[in-house]
Order: sequence, then C-alpha cells, then structure tokens
Amino acid sequence: MNLHEYQGKEILASFGVRIQRGIVAHNAQEAVAAAKQLTEETGTGWHVIKAQVHAGGRGKGGGVKLAKNLNEVEEIAGSIIGMNLVTPQTSAEGKKVHQVLVAEDVYYPGESETSEFYVSVLLNRATGRNMIMYSTEGGMDIEEVAEKTPHLIYTEEIDPSTGLLAFQARKIAFNLGLSGLAFKEMTKFVASLYKAYVESDSSMFEINPVLKTSDNKIMAVDAKVSIDDNALYRRKQYAEMRDLREENPIEVEAGALGLNYVDLDGNVGCMVNGAGLAMATMDLIKQAGGEPANFLDVGGTADAARVEAAFKIILKDPAVKAILINIFGGIVRCDRVAQGVIDAYKNMGTINVPIIVRLQGTNADIAKELIDNSGLDVQSAVEFQEAADKVKAVLA
Ligand code: GDP
Ligand code: MN
Repeated sequence: MNLHEYQGKEILASFGVRIQRGIVAHNAQEAVAAAKQLTEETGTGWHVIKAQVHAGGRGKGGGVKLAKNLNEVEEIAGSIIGMNLVTPQTSAEGKKVHQVLVAEDVYYPGESETSEFYVSVLLNRATGRNMIMYSTEGGMDIEEVAEKTPHLIYTEEIDPSTGLLAFQARKIAFNLGLSGLAFKEMTKFVASLYKAYVESDSSMFEINPVLKTSDNKIMAVDAKVSIDDNALYRRKQYAEMRDLREENPIEVEAGALGLNYVDLDGNVGCMVNGAGLAMATMDLIKQAGGEPANFLDVGGTADAARVEAAFKIILKDPAVKAILINIFGGIVRCDRVAQGVIDAYKNMGTINVPIIVRLQGTNADIAKELIDNSGLDVQSAVEFQEAADKVKAVLA
C-alpha cells in the first residue's frame, strides 16, 4: 500500500526522523491558514506548496512550487488543487490533485551551502536482507543516476540478527561526504529511518531528497513509503491511511469481492484459478497474438457467484475483446465450474465478447458437454493449445 508524502512524513516524525514540516490543505483558504500557522511554529517566511498524489516527479510536472508570500500561497495552492498533474511517473491524463502539503521552506541561506542526498531502505530480494541505498546525487531521478553514474550509488546491507550497526550509519554519513554536526545528524537520521522502516512493516522507504540545510541539519524533504499489505492487519493506524482515490478503481472493487485482480493494458480478459496457472495463461494469450487485459485469480472456490463477479470485473475494462477462462478442477470439480459459468452468463444477459472456456481436471468431460449443450455463445477447449488457437481465431 502506497502512502502520500505527508503520511510518510508523519510516520517518519513518529520515529524521531527530522522532516520538513508541513500541513495538509484541501483548498486555497486552508492553505493560507496552514502557511500562517507554519510561520508561527517554525518562523519560516517562504512556503513550498506540494501536490499530494501517489506519483513521483511532481516537481517536474509543476506540482511543487515555492510561495514567497501569502498571496502566492493562495494563488499557487488554488491552481494546484483540482489540476490533473502529469509527471514522468503518471499516465498522459495525469492524476487529479485533491490536496496539497503546505511546507516550510528549508532551502534558506546560511553558513554553508545546502546539499541534497538520496537515501532509501528496501528489501534486497536476492539476499533476503534489508538494505540502505544512498547517493550524493539526491534531488534528481535516481534511475538516471543508476544508468549514467552507477558508481555514485552505494548500498549497505543489514544483518537481520544484529540490525543496523552504529558503524554502518557512520560509514553512510562518511561516504556522503559529511563532517561535523551534519555527520552526526546523518548517523541519527539513518538510524531512526531504518527503525521506522522495520517497525512500520514497510516494503520501501525512499527519501529523495534528504536535505542538509545551510545550518547543517539533516531532514527528509520528500517521503515515498509503501507498507507491506500483508502486515496491515497488525498496523491498523497505517491501514487507515489508505487513499482509494489514488488506486485503480477496478482493482479496488475486485479486492472488495476477494478477487485477486491486477489491471493490465491488453485485450484478452482472463479468469483463472491459481496464480501459477494465471501466469501460464497470460503467456498462452501472448503466444496466441493477444495481450492479457488483466491478471485474475478467482482462487479455490469458482462457484457461480464468484464467476459472475469475476465476469463483471473483467467486462468493466472496455479494451477486453475476448475472455479466456482457464480453470483446473482439482478441489473444485469442473462440472461445477461449468455450471457456474453457464449460470453467471445467463444471469448477466448479454455478454458481447466471445468466451473460451478451458476446464481440465476432475469431470472435465462432463463440463465440456455442459458448455457445448448450453446453447450459449461459449466455446470449450480441453487442451492448452486448443484454447490458444481459439483465442487466436476470435482475435483475427
Ligand atoms: P518530487 O518531485 O515528486 O520528487 O517532489 P519533492 O518533494 O522531491 O520536491 C521536488 C523538489 O522541490 C526538490 O528536489 C527540491 O529541489 C524542491 N523543494 C522541496 N522543498 C523545497 C523547499 O523547501 N524550498 C525550495 N526552494 N525548494 C524545495
Ligand atoms: Mn522527491
């Protein structure tokens, strides 16, 4: 589950990580009130107005702007709220902005130059260990740094039996070229960041930029946080942070029905039981010259109600030109699934895309007979290749 910047910063602050402070506003008036309050609390004269959407690259898309007085706060917040923000990480239509974070300006001049770093914590799946990735090249696209100057990205792996050790935090601060107060601040920053990552059951924390202010404080200016969905049951306070407006509406609906659905860009909808078979079915569709429109695992119980729910979800995607149902009847008998498909089809009235059903396993022959004699516009297949050929034929 992804969070907004302001939510990520809330979590960081609760673990003692220094953050650029801010207040969320839903309209221009709230933004002005937030700016006044921040000036009182922090003494800041300038404010940054930051669009809160689940996408990075907001600065590049015009979603992060500096306001030098309250008139500018009002004007900028008014123009950002309600806009469709297009960034290198959104689709061409962009993302609707419902709220902004009004934040204190932390790039103020002082005794030294400000500098921007990159620090993230994530799981290294190859070693099964958490790691801290960091770079002196913060503030910009880390993907570009990785491509052009990969030697400027460092990693530090953490042994799960000891956790992050003090010398590792010092090594990071050293490699980032810091000394004096900034060095000490960075070791503290890294240690509390890592604690926040572990204790919030996150799968990623990406802070870009981490700022060294002109008076040598180290703080998080941005925060991209993903919490592991599987941990939300025991992290209720984070589960409540979910913003469904930021998520794919069909996926949200499917999730509520207990269907494991991922929306994709293709033209063939698929309904499968079991994640492995779903992956194989997507390969099959590609080989037949189609592109999967979704990943959909209906799970173990493919009864009529579930099949109907799955049909409805698949058909919400207007790009779907054919549906391939590929179910292995192990625990669930094929004839039951076939009856489920037939009942669901009849219940739904008209379905305007061709349907190919491959049922294999217990009572597959009875299932095929049921489908063939149903009088419905549903084609049956027994073999994998046969199903692929039928998909190819309906796409042609
Ligand atoms: P992103 O573009 O979505 O990654 O959003 P960020 O939160 O990283 O902000 C983008 C850029 O805005 C940062 O890299 C900074 O250069 C700039 N920025 C953020 N906060 C401030 C601030 O307080 N003052 C100034 N002058 N610039 C800021
Ligand atoms: Mn950023």
